[in-house]
Amino acid sequence: MEEMWRLVIMGAPGAGKGTLAERISGELGIAHIATGDILRAAVEAGTKLGQEAQKYLEAGELVPDEVVNGIVGERLAQEDCVRGFLLDGFPRTVEQAKALNGILTGRGEELSRVLVVEVEPEVIVRRLSGRRVCLNCGATYQVETLPPRVEGVCDICGGKLVQRPDDQPATIRHRLVVYEEQTKPLIEYYEQQGLVTRVDNSGAIGMAVEAALAALRAGSEK
Ligand SMILES: [Zn+2]
Repeated sequence: MEEMWRLVIMGAPGAGKGTLAERISGELGIAHIATGDILRAAVEAGTKLGQEAQKYLEAGELVPDEVVNGIVGERLAQEDCVRGFLLDGFPRTVEQAKALNGILTGRGEELSRVLVVEVEPEVIVRRLSGRRVCLNCGATYQVETLPPRVEGVCDICGGKLVQRPDDQPATIRHRLVVYEEQTKPLIEYYEQQGLVTRVDNSGAIGMAVEAALAALRAGSEK
């Protein structure tokens, strides 16, 4: 029987969630659905909900839950989700999680697993505070893992490399605290349903991918 995977992935800024999501969805042959991307796609396609979302995006406001939920629902009904999906960036709140449950229940489906990506806070601080961005072309570097050939100078255009204010260690620590506070109720909500699998991504990304896949496959044999 073909395995069906309906997954959610969560993780702090700098935890490497996007890359992990990409790799895991590729291995499982399921759609990787990043909320930012699907909002943009719905706006571009000019769907009814997309036009609704556009009004808020243009005003620089948060797109309300009912619009986001509707767009997610439409996205999950698309053909590339027949073998499942990995949601990245949604749900962000317990309210949205309940809405997702409603969407799935309406289709006679349920969530398989929630992957919570974990990285030591100091590792995240080190990763993010090492980021440098080119003022001219926007290329990004990492002083330890992806350094430019000449310190402070962009390889591509010769522009000046700077550290964004968001990537200062104090700001990163603050963002991590905010993330933890906001996400705690959501993780608890999923823990009560026995859906949470924690994945440590403090080391090499390949190890985290293997660990996540092994945990998923072991869980599905129960
Ligand atoms: Zn540049």
